[in-house]
Amino acid sequence: MTFDLIVRNATLPDGRTGQDIACADGRIAAVAPRMDAAGAREIDADGQLVSPPFVDCHFHMDATLSLGLPRMNVSGTLLEGIALWGELKPLLTHEAVIERALRYCDLAVSQGLLAVRSHVDICDDRLLAVEALKEVQARVRPYLDLQLVAFPQDGYYRSANAEANLARALDLGVEVVGGIPHFERSMADGAASVRALCEIAADRGLLVDMHCDESDDPLSRHIETLAFETQRLGLQGRVAGSHLTSMHSMDNYYVSKLLPLMAEAGVSAIANPLINICLQGRHDGYPKRRGMTRVPEMQAMGIPVGFGHDCVMDPWYSLGQADMLEVAAMAVHVGQLTSRDAMRAAFEAVTTVPAAIMHLQDYGLAPGCHADMVLLQATDTIEAIRMKPVRLAVIRRGRVIAETMPRVIALRIDGRPDMVDPASYAPREGGDPRL
Ligand SMILES: [Zn+2]
Repeated sequence: MTFDLIVRNATLPDGRTGQDIACADGRIAAVAPRMDAAGAREIDADGQLVSPPFVDCHFHMDATLSLGLPRMNVSGTLLEGIALWGELKPLLTHEAVIERALRYCDLAVSQGLLAVRSHVDICDDRLLAVEALKEVQARVRPYLDLQLVAFPQDGYYRSANAEANLARALDLGVEVVGGIPHFERSMADGAASVRALCEIAADRGLLVDMHCDESDDPLSRHIETLAFETQRLGLQGRVAGSHLTSMHSMDNYYVSKLLPLMAEAGVSAIANPLINICLQGRHDGYPKRRGMTRVPEMQAMGIPVGFGHDCVMDPWYSLGQADMLEVAAMAVHVGQLTSRDAMRAAFEAVTTVPAAIMHLQDYGLAPGCHADMVLLQATDTIEAIRMKPVRLAVIRRGRVIAETMPRVIALRIDGRPDMVDPASYAPREGGDPRL
């Protein structure tokens, strides 16, 4: 039998080695060691890691690559970022939003990032960004899954037409209901917005993903309301709370009650480590709080935790290159997730966990799944986080859509090797220390 593609001698994220992955008709047909079959195209993974594609479950594609337009964020705070975005919004054009989003998707593909959940601001009566990103969604569909969240950036109740605009955006086919309860005028309005938005999602059969408690305020507790409404409306498994940075600063006793409630309600959490470490703690002297939510504690309770990139070169964050391993590496540092198991979980937080949060269909490396995968210049998932290595091949539906040459450095030092391959520095766990 001849397959369309066989990737030979791969190491999989679960640690299996020497695996051949055969693809036919855009799907994974078989995964087995040393398969006795031929492929129209064959790729030798040479023992390196093959992973399902990276997934970013929290992003803002309407703002990406707008850095410096119309000016820079001087204070570096979330609030100046929101104000700056407010200055840019009336100046946006349909074509410019589309062009920036498409360019971002090119970058994402080059990094093996093939699924993105993007919030889209609906607080512009023109709904220009919604219409632009719906067009982008259709254009990138052959190579990237783009899921859109109707996001009332200026507040569902605080912004004049947000209620009507959000309904219009959902009518245009936006798939997920967003929110920003901590930005409403009062705690009570914030809680009311959570209730109303969850009811809309329940009525329309949609998913929910709210920016929730993105502050250093230990008393910002909208996640409690989000968990309550999830349970009341039977939305278990369909709701995510994004950021949850206030949890970093909450009273420990309160958190010991909150986390079981979240687990019981089947609410997922999304941390955005690059943005959280940059934006939170801005009002602190020393010591400065890190601001990232309580990742290992939630994981221990069985709450799914995904990591998002949130921003790349926009009013809130001036860096980034669509590299979800950079996101995972920052999470490892900020959350001190340095045990071997915690680092493996950090890799899952940018692959399988966000895929489940987004309800992606047929994602993974099992037979029957879409033939979507990434070959990395690294031997396992921890090495991938350590090195943020080159994506040697990015495969979508059984076809190679991006390739990078291996990173090998020529060394000109007498008495030393003439080449350095960063991937060859993997630790020999349990090996003979005398060798
Ligand atoms: Zn966000």
